[in-house]
Amino acid sequence: MQHSINKLRNYFKAEHKNGYTNKAVIGGLAKVLDFWESEARSDGVPEDVISLVSNRLRDYHRLSPQSRADILKGLWKRVQGDDSPIDEGSPTAASVTPQARVEPKIQPEKPVEYQEPSLKETPDAPPKPQSTPQVRERVVKKPASRSSSFPGAITSQTPAAFNASLEVLHGVGPKHANKLEKLGLYTLGDMLFHFPRRYDDYSNLRPIRSLRVGDVGTVIGQIQGVFERKARGGKMTIVEAVISDDGFSAIRVTWFNQPWLMNRLSEGLNIAIAGKIEQYLGRLVMNNPDWEPVEIENLHTNRIVPIYPLTESITQKALRELMDQVIKFWTPRVIDPLPKQLVSEAGLMSFGEALFQVHFPDDQEFLKNARDRLAFDEIFYLQLGVSKRRKDQTALTGRVFEVDDDWMTLALENIPFTLTNAQNKVVAEIRENLRSGSPMNRLIQGDVGSGKTVVALLAARVVANAGGQTAVMAPTSILAEQHYENFRSLLVESGLFAEHQVRLLTGDTNAAERESIQNDLHSGELKFLIGTHALIEDPVQFNDLQLIVIDEQHRFGVHQRSALRAKGNNPHLLVMTATPIPRSLALTLYGDLDLSIMDEMPAGREPVKTFVLRPVERERAYTLIRGQIKAGFQVFVVYPLIEESDKLEDVKAAVDEHKILSEQVFKDLNVGLLHGKMKPAEKDQVMMDFRNKKFDILVSTTVIEVGVDVPNATVILIEGANRFGLAQLHQLRGRVGRGGGESYCLLIPDQESAVENERLQAMVDTFDGFKLAEMDMKLRGPGEFLGTKQSGFAATLKMASLTDIALIEKASKFAREVLERDPDLVSPENALMAESVENFWNERGDVS
Ligand code: ADP
Ligand code: MG
Repeated sequence: MQHSINKLRNYFKAEHKNGYTNKAVIGGLAKVLDFWESEARSDGVPEDVISLVSNRLRDYHRLSPQSRADILKGLWKRVQGDDSPIDEGSPTAASVTPQARVEPKIQPEKPVEYQEPSLKETPDAPPKPQSTPQVRERVVKKPASRSSSFPGAITSQTPAAFNASLEVLHGVGPKHANKLEKLGLYTLGDMLFHFPRRYDDYSNLRPIRSLRVGDVGTVIGQIQGVFERKARGGKMTIVEAVISDDGFSAIRVTWFNQPWLMNRLSEGLNIAIAGKIEQYLGRLVMNNPDWEPVEIENLHTNRIVPIYPLTESITQKALRELMDQVIKFWTPRVIDPLPKQLVSEAGLMSFGEALFQVHFPDDQEFLKNARDRLAFDEIFYLQLGVSKRRKDQTALTGRVFEVDDDWMTLALENIPFTLTNAQNKVVAEIRENLRSGSPMNRLIQGDVGSGKTVVALLAARVVANAGGQTAVMAPTSILAEQHYENFRSLLVESGLFAEHQVRLLTGDTNAAERESIQNDLHSGELKFLIGTHALIEDPVQFNDLQLIVIDEQHRFGVHQRSALRAKGNNPHLLVMTATPIPRSLALTLYGDLDLSIMDEMPAGREPVKTFVLRPVERERAYTLIRGQIKAGFQVFVVYPLIEESDKLEDVKAAVDEHKILSEQVFKDLNVGLLHGKMKPAEKDQVMMDFRNKKFDILVSTTVIEVGVDVPNATVILIEGANRFGLAQLHQLRGRVGRGGGESYCLLIPDQESAVENERLQAMVDTFDGFKLAEMDMKLRGPGEFLGTKQSGFAATLKMASLTDIALIEKASKFAREVLERDPDLVSPENALMAESVENFWNERGDVS
């Protein structure tokens, strides 16, 4: 054992002997820190251990003997568990030998000698008289669908006991274990990765005697007395408590109309109250503060208290106590899957320490470092996994499709317009992929109206030319129909293909047509099948599926994409999105895809004239709308989604506005309504009706489908424009200006003050979706433009947030470096890391 650690042990022992009176060292235990730190450093004690020790000892003199005992005990376990095996034949030695780390016994050994054997709250009294063999029997089979996995959670070095059932814990029987399963907690290992939802920080508590009127904060004290009285002639109940934290200073706390508190508050109970300090008759009072009972031991040992996600019938306290057993004992035994060098170069906390600190943080800084470490891991493994997949995919064989330039020239002549340079570039990239011999995996990002469809159509023609089949999947039937009409007009009406070779399959397709489609698909006659999710369904069997095109790909879940893929044998894949995603994010989310960017609009397309109007200028907007409708055009009017949770309110807003517009403002016109509460089929019907000019005006919430082409619509009026992200406004603006000729986007914020808003002004000046997305990103974070399905993926991240671009960039940088040095992760120091990538990825599947 290092000298410095040995010294620490001697101090601790002495403290124990003196009954934790802080007399082991003259001037108090904290005094040793000055020299101990540097000694420990030169001894090679890990930095996180050093800071842990100094952090905990610094306030030692303030603690009660009981808390001091807890602190030293906990600290000693951490110190010995982390890196410094205790030498000689002490009975504790076994617990820290490397073998013991790999497969520790479930029953924690009796720890160091200085300890009082009977202190409660720690698992040193064995949780249950069970031994290793029993643990093995109790190894739990986890349900496959569990999502509580965390990168690095499982490697071959993970102690087998992490798989042990929770019933090995003190006080957990089958019934209790069942309740824990509802939280996704099946094993000891699961506990480590069940992170707190938030923390209550009692580390900056104010003593009551220092409070001043007007302060806002948290106070903890003991209830000296509780009283109930009536006011307002008996109509109001007032519950009053007097709370003191030192026996002298007191604060009077009053709750109005919460008579049940009389049953919950009682003399002697320790509670935390948070609120504003007020004054009443010269005395300090708090009115209606938030409150909760506190466990006083917790305050001293863990002054930042974790609050866990719970289900019914488990209390915070109970779960926290179990956590305490598991975390304190097991986190020191967690093996860090990342190589030491990487951990130190990236300035990361060790894995075990991070797991400890995330549950029971020493202070806010430790907590932050712990969260950073865990978030880093998620992104880092994601990146490594994405890179590996990319490699794996390149190793697959895909059918080679090659066409010569003459054929291509002819194909292009068949299209009624000249491709933009951007389109030509992407077509060339696709041709390259198709003849490469490994399956294409390409994402086309192109602004609304940049002409992605025709590029996909050309790819499909190349494939059909060699007899292969193409599936085009769109998220809604109206989009599918639109693509179908496009394909039909370019392929069938030009005489290149027969009617039955280009088909549409949606939920609405009738049984006879379905059967006919299936037959032609099976025989291989059908070359282009366009549709919705219906394409994924079982009966749809291709003869030779070679190309998959997915439009608005973020609207699909990963399983839907892989289900379609599975219908072919390594088919080529082309996914398209109009959602601009900044590069660093794209690399994280779609690093296994090649990226094509279409950053050019077809010639002759006039930018949509954009204006920001004051709310009082709405009449001007209406005048313009009337003019356009008179000229035979159509108009969108959009209302914002105020908040996800406010769906009903929004519907109401749109419904109300629709009423006003249709019955008063435009009562001579046809005004349609579209909102999120409608069934998909209803929505489609409304969109279809609008496209068929049944309505002059379509009032909607933001559900107007991305990508829907209504060339006759020339005006989009967006109410509450200040509530939208720029990228979203840009998407909405893309609904008009698709037919050539002048078109208008009118933005009306719901506050006068937002008119001069720089953000909205950007819409007037910029027509580049990527630029607007970058601005959004800076101003509001990426949540703004990531569709729900993507956020669904992001939701599998437990710690990392895709808003943390700095973290993403850091993790990518290290992932790249690691792969440069060791592309296949075969070097021994990367072995555990490679295993973690594998495990993490296997559970996650296809992300892109
Ligand atoms: P998006 O990229 O938004 O899916 P589309 O593929 O729907 O765009 O194309 C939008 C419109 O532009 C369609 O009507 C399409 O026919 C037309 N278009 C596409 N490319 C060109 C081009 N190079 N020149 C002129 N019009 C084009
Ligand atoms: Mg499109």
